[in-house]
Amino acid sequence: MTSLLLLPGDGIGPEVTAQSRRILEAMAIPGLVLSDGLFGGASIDVHGVPLTDETRDRALASDAVLMGAVGGPQWAEVAYDKRPEAGLLGLRGAMNVYANLRPARCFDALADASSLKRHLVEGLDILFVRELVGGVYFGQPRGIETLPNGERRGFNTQSYTTSEIRRVAKTAFELARGRSGRVCSVEKANVMESGVLWREEVRALRDEAFPDIVLSHMYADNCAMQLVKAPLQFDIILTDNLFGDLLSDLAAMSTGSLGMLPSAALGEAGKPGLYEPIHGSAPDIAGQGVANPCASILSLAMALRHSLGAPDAAARLEAAVEAALDSGARTRDLGGALSTREMGDAILRQLDRC
Ligand code: NAD
Repeated sequence: MTSLLLLPGDGIGPEVTAQSRRILEAMAIPGLVLSDGLFGGASIDVHGVPLTDETRDRALASDAVLMGAVGGPQWAEVAYDKRPEAGLLGLRGAMNVYANLRPARCFDALADASSLKRHLVEGLDILFVRELVGGVYFGQPRGIETLPNGERRGFNTQSYTTSEIRRVAKTAFELARGRSGRVCSVEKANVMESGVLWREEVRALRDEAFPDIVLSHMYADNCAMQLVKAPLQFDIILTDNLFGDLLSDLAAMSTGSLGMLPSAALGEAGKPGLYEPIHGSAPDIAGQGVANPCASILSLAMALRHSLGAPDAAARLEAAVEAALDSGARTRDLGGALSTREMGDAILRQLDRC
């Protein structure tokens, strides 16, 4: 038996997650039990908090969680630590999902929708492995203080320990064994001590346990430039929380639309993974039924592969998405006119053939 908890959330979250649910029901994976829960603003409206203890415990007891998106203008006035986004950070922290896998894959049918020229992105298939629960987003001390001279000072701390670096590097190296065997590790060791440690620990782990992996190192600013100049050179990019946030969004635009990009957040082996589209709740189109469900559906495929023991079903689902795009199926963000549900229908039709 395996279990998947759906947390559709807010805005377009429930719209795109509904298509993933339909597809999952049609695939009828043996032994897979589905359930759902309130999360984000939807949970605030009912329970007063974005993540209840009960939902957190159900997430921890599942094999995988598929999230939609959280947030929206109706909760903008809620206290910072009670906002929908605080629930998301709380869930990531509680699940200790330190390795964020963000594939940036350019489907052939969408190469002309990229902001880069077709020949630069044709065949693009980069996997970002981003550290997710450490670094400058979590480091202490942090805050805003008033100095004796009346000036205000805002500060955050970039900090990484040996174990924090090594556990995410291990994930990248293991994944590389199933791909090209190459990992490019990205930091700014030229100006940051945490970058020096990052580089040393990644290299040491490779030498000790993954001698078959071809490891290269690149400074983050050069990586940003290379991602626009010649993105096809990359396979796996291993990087920290901040650089991974920026560089993966940059690469995302090479693939055509935010509505196409899935993600997985993984922790220790055997612990549940958290899967979600990289896009937000898109309040500007919520309720119109026009959101692209592909990022959610591809996130579901990642859950099938990494947490639910169904790699064949994952490959079949990814092939169905690609075949639907090849057949010309397009939501509005991709330049077409299909509704969210019609895009789901197009993928379901291809599923029968894949
Ligand atoms: P967004 O990703 O929601 O939207 C950015 C733009 O992309 C919008 O124009 C939107 O219409 C479009 N877009 C996004 N997903 C799409 C899809 N599947 N199909 C078609 N078009 C799509 O980012 P935002 O507008 O900056 O944020 C809106 C809200 O979402 C905020 O409250 C923010 O905090 C939240 N957010 C949540 C997450 C998450 O839940 N993981 C991530 C990012 C933002």
